[in-house]
Amino acid sequence: MERLSIEPHGEQKGSSLWGDAVSTFLRVRCPDCENEQVVFDRASIHVKCLVCGRTLVEPTGGKSRIKAEIIKVLE
Ligand SMILES: [Zn+2]
Repeated sequence: MERLSIEPHGEQKGSSLWGDAVSTFLRVRCPDCENEQVVFDRASIHVKCLVCGRTLVEPTGGKSRIKAEIIKVLE
């Protein structure tokens, strides 16, 4: 009789570093230099363009204010 191996804990669906909040990643384009990068829509810190340093996301206490062109929403 075969024994099934027991899956280790740690891959439970729904758990994340961000708790239970629904998180969304956005692909945005910097309005200044057109650099594209992926940002988190609930970032609690300013997210800057990796190329020119322009602020792309501002924290507002809840959902972040996106100050760049949103190209795609990644789920
Ligand atoms: Zn830029």
